[in-house]
Amino acid sequence: MTELHVHDEEIWLDAACAHGLAEQLFLHRPYEACGVLRGNAAAGGMRIETLIPIRNVAPDPLHRFVLDPQAWVQQCLNPLGLLGIFHTHPHTVPAPSEEDLRQLPLFGDLLRIYLISSPDQSGSSILTQAYFIERSAAGDFHLRPARLRMA
Ligand SMILES: [Zn+2]
Repeated sequence: MTELHVHDEEIWLDAACAHGLAEQLFLHRPYEACGVLRGNAAAGGMRIETLIPIRNVAPDPLHRFVLDPQAWVQQCLNPLGLLGIFHTHPHTVPAPSEEDLRQLPLFGDLLRIYLISSPDQSGSSILTQAYFIERSAAGDFHLRPARLRMA
């Protein structure tokens, strides 16, 4: 029964945030864009209401992202409403890379939601895949695909 309840959990994305994701992807292309997601964790679901872009300071921003540490720490100082992070894949599908998975322990204790956005086939719109950040009994983090709904 508990299992069922977990799977019922939905992630809602406000229209302004969906627009913001597309804007970030196309603005920073060919580099990856990244940032923080804030909102409300209500019963039975989570609602993303604010998108906060953060500078990608990765030495190789074509293929990976590193949140500007100062901006990230500032977000962590205000944990209420801190739901997740997003980043973009300008060249590949919205599935986590090996590097993305290696980075999960940096966020896993603080965040629940992980979004990746990629261009769709037309190249003029985006596809966004949502994941829940979860911790296994062994203590390592993984991403479970989640259903993203437009609010
Ligand atoms: Zn990635």
